[in-house]
Amino acid sequence: MQDIAQYLEDRTLILLSNREPYEHVHADGLVEVRQPPGGLVSALDPTMRATHGTWVAWGSGSADADMSDSDGRVMVPPANPEYSLRRVFLDDEEVNGYYLGFSNAVLWPLCHMLVQHFEYRDGYWDRYRDVNEKFARAVAAEVDRAEKRPIVWIQDYHFALAADLIRSRSTPILIHQFWHIPFPPSDILRLLPSDVSDSLLRGMLGNDLIEFQTERYALSFLGCVSEFITDADTDADNRVIHYSGRSIEVGVFPISIDVEKYEQLAFEPESLARVERLRGLHACGGRQVGLSVDRVDYTKGIPERLRALTQLWEQYPEMRERFTMLVVATPSRSELASYRHLEEEMVSTVQQINDRFKTENWEPIVLIHKNVSAEVLAGAYRAADICLVSSLQDGMNLVAKEFVACQVDEKGVLVLSRFTGAAEDIDGAILINPFNIDGFVDGIRRALEMSESERRIRMQRMRTQLRSLTIFDWLASILSRTRDIIAARTEATSQA
Ligand code: UDP
Repeated sequence: MQDIAQYLEDRTLILLSNREPYEHVHADGLVEVRQPPGGLVSALDPTMRATHGTWVAWGSGSADADMSDSDGRVMVPPANPEYSLRRVFLDDEEVNGYYLGFSNAVLWPLCHMLVQHFEYRDGYWDRYRDVNEKFARAVAAEVDRAEKRPIVWIQDYHFALAADLIRSRSTPILIHQFWHIPFPPSDILRLLPSDVSDSLLRGMLGNDLIEFQTERYALSFLGCVSEFITDADTDADNRVIHYSGRSIEVGVFPISIDVEKYEQLAFEPESLARVERLRGLHACGGRQVGLSVDRVDYTKGIPERLRALTQLWEQYPEMRERFTMLVVATPSRSELASYRHLEEEMVSTVQQINDRFKTENWEPIVLIHKNVSAEVLAGAYRAADICLVSSLQDGMNLVAKEFVACQVDEKGVLVLSRFTGAAEDIDGAILINPFNIDGFVDGIRRALEMSESERRIRMQRMRTQLRSLTIFDWLASILSRTRDIIAARTEATSQA
């Protein structure tokens, strides 16, 4: 791992994200510390430890308040304190309006351009504004008490308004924001009431640098600003916006995974044992193993994938028994009706497919309907002959990258939706359009029939690319960009 802290020089980092890096929960009469799974926390936690910064996040754990001081602060990691976590507590109404409502029922479908799931309510927007204010106040307080000059880094769509609100209350040396999900073109953003889209864009323009996963999302953002914010001067060629006497850079920084960690997990003896067990169960007699891994979310194209599998087995009976599909589907956001319906639809469709096509010694789809650990996933990724990623829209899709990292035997084929950030980032997958079921079926057939040598060539190419695109490279390139912006500004001020 590179020494990422070097990019901060004599400055400190104040990070704002919805999810916290450590959560205290009541369990069996005791208080347990949990670290949410996911690459972001595991990449940022070492940087925060090395730089002793401050992480501001929603205190979502049942014992969080008991374990923090009256301002919501607690030193973490709890076992070996190195940086400060400032928890912001939300009541049920705030969680419903800001998180489930505006973030997940308004911005999430809108940014993924799946407008049939878009459910705007004025009340959601009011709570989103209030909660962004609340977090901004907490960040501004941390800026004021920081011993070194702070850089503020905001994560994601939960905080579109935060940068501007923080700027109006405090003077960090730089504010920047990573937008993890797609950004929609102006015709889609237009579905919001115009005062809301105006406030969102102006809120984001409170940043000095806004980071997107792909060029396309960056251009969509620039297009929206150019169309809706008439007092901003947008230079799309140089990806810079002049607004309110400041320059805002728009950058492209595709996120990735801890490649080495996944590779190592795949090499663990436990993984090998899992590979042997899975292949023993599902790949006997030359049968192949297919795999998909997602949260049950309408962005992931799960019904489309099941439709493609149905059509494949219907149209090409010789493809029956040729492979078994393992579908890891993790329940997600079940508080929202659209997610519950999707889950019910998925379970019943899998049942119908299995009833229709199963044979005496073959079950077409094995549904693993729960959250699976990275250790277990690594074995499944290694065991799979094909991995299907069928997102209708996806900021990046880390599953695609994890599959490639764990393919240490280089025998698997990635069938990847062209609407993922990953499709623009790694080259060697079979690209499909999940809206075109015929093409999707062809993609699966091509993958199943691909020769061993072609599989190896493609997988080697993707693995080589991935090794130079780890989450630590992502982090380093963002922090080095912020360092350069600060240096250029300091120079401009000293010459003035
Ligand atoms: N994941 C997991 N267990 C599961 C299903 C998914 O740990 O049962 C992880 C997966 O390994 C990946 C992340 O959840 O790191 C999903 O990231 P992705 O970018 O693919 O989609 P997102 O859920 O962020 O939309």
